[in-house]
Amino acid sequence: MNQIAVIGSGFSGLSASCFLAQAGFEVTVFEKNSSPGGRARKFEAQGFTFDMGPSWYWMPDVFEEFFSHFGKKPADYYDLVRLDPSYRIVYSGTDKLDIPAGISKLCNLFESLEPGSSQQLLKFLEEGKFKYDIGIHDLVHKPGLSVTELLDVDLFKGVFRLHVFESIAAYIRKFFTAPKLIQLLEFPVLFLGAKPSKTPALYSLMNYADMSLGTWYPMGGMFKVIEGMVDLASSLGVRFEFNSNVQHVEVNSTRANGIVINGKFQSFDYVVASADYHHVEQELLPASHRRYSEQYWQKRVMAPSSLIFYLGVNKKIDHLLHHTLFFDEDFTKHAEQIYDDPQWPTAPQFYVSCPSKTDPSVAPPGNENIFILIPVAPGLTDEESTRERYFEMVLARLEKHIGQNIRDHIVFRRSYAHQDFIKDYNAFKGNAYGLANTLLQTANLKPSIINKKVKNLFYTGQLTVPGPGVPPSIISGKVVAKELIKSHKEIVN
Ligand SMILES: Cc1cc2nc3c(=O)[nH]c(=O)nc-3n(C[C@H](O)[C@H](O)[C@H](O)COP(=O)(O)OP(=O)(O)OC[C@H]3O[C@@H](n4cnc5c(N)ncnc54)[C@H](O)[C@@H]3O)c2cc1C
Repeated sequence: MNQIAVIGSGFSGLSASCFLAQAGFEVTVFEKNSSPGGRARKFEAQGFTFDMGPSWYWMPDVFEEFFSHFGKKPADYYDLVRLDPSYRIVYSGTDKLDIPAGISKLCNLFESLEPGSSQQLLKFLEEGKFKYDIGIHDLVHKPGLSVTELLDVDLFKGVFRLHVFESIAAYIRKFFTAPKLIQLLEFPVLFLGAKPSKTPALYSLMNYADMSLGTWYPMGGMFKVIEGMVDLASSLGVRFEFNSNVQHVEVNSTRANGIVINGKFQSFDYVVASADYHHVEQELLPASHRRYSEQYWQKRVMAPSSLIFYLGVNKKIDHLLHHTLFFDEDFTKHAEQIYDDPQWPTAPQFYVSCPSKTDPSVAPPGNENIFILIPVAPGLTDEESTRERYFEMVLARLEKHIGQNIRDHIVFRRSYAHQDFIKDYNAFKGNAYGLANTLLQTANLKPSIINKKVKNLFYTGQLTVPGPGVPPSIISGKVVAKELIKSHKEIVN
């Protein structure tokens, strides 16, 4: 009764496998791709090393807590540096704002944009800290199996201070009026996959994470974190099988017997599915044993997909930071075209990461490594000609901002969008960030980590609790491992 198959080697699958191996289970991770990491994989080309997905390392305490469960610390696996400025916002052409690391510098910045706002910022961050302490240290660790989990006394006492029933858009406007500050404070909500007007003000905890805890970078790239987790898992006895596409979860009455990998059946006592929830339910399970119908999935609010360009540039670029957000177009229109009336955006906002500004190892000497991401609606028709059109659009805006030619210096270029997310990760509608964190898709209103029809099958990852993002995916793996261990103890005792 102690053999576990984990489907997928993203952050959630790796996290779950570490906790389960530590508890004494024999864990095998099956990954369809040839390398670990899922959406956080890397690829190398012409001397450049590209992180394929995440580039923002936020909430360092979550990573510390994860490794500390195993007597380790992040520094055992990678070197972290804090970025200062944390990032740049481009408001239009050359109108930009560099967001400094550290509260006193931030207060000065706020004051320069809206007199009196530094005091408001301190109050706003104090409320954010309260939410972070409860949210990240308590709420996100709940398995989301019953509303009674939320009736915890401390949580109940603090419920009004969590601002769960107010939108973050309205909440921010109670503190600040300067449009630039409002845009700055609404930006972290993009990580949660929904519009600020649809996201609970509970998530001002993200502003606390941004401004008080800071933006960090693991030298070598975000993939260093994946490598660290794979090292840790291997040291705990976890086995990894790559190029191993799981095709079915075989079910007998109310239990899974095992899984079919590349046409071969292997028996297991438990299955932890960290691949996209929709794929596992709709494609790996027989219809009789699915917890949710296709109609259910069609009604979910998915977080956006992304159109990404990975560029290798054979010269150094001035006037570009590690992280730059291009807010030089109207977000209201862009957000409508992601969420309300899904279509390719007319004039999107976008994000540029240039990790070679911090880390010389990700590009050949004298070169830059550039990652451009445009958030777009999931489920769109993704064609080469469309990608090309957006490439021209964002490159022109980037060149205008930095006042330099890049296009003649691009020596490597790859694009990535819906079709790639589907092919590489079996992503529902080609989503990038999973399921959006709207009020009606929070805690026990998310797809459940258990399947009542298949008692030994558990789900983890960014489509279930607590939600999208690297720290939540790591926590999701821990939550599911705890639940599996609890259920196992009930059976064996
Ligand atoms: C472009 C992009 C940028 C992002 N930026 C950030 C950021 O800056 N900061 C941040 O915190 N978060 C960011 N995120 C979100 C974060 O990367 C994800 O929330 C997290 O990596 C999801 O981990 P996961 O384990 O849930 O899923 P995944 O990483 O998708 O892992 C699931 C795994 O299952 C495998 N799989 C699927 N089907 C099968 C099958 N049938 N058989 C075997 N294996 C299978 C997949 O190949 C994959 O490896 C970003 C995501 C993307 C896509």
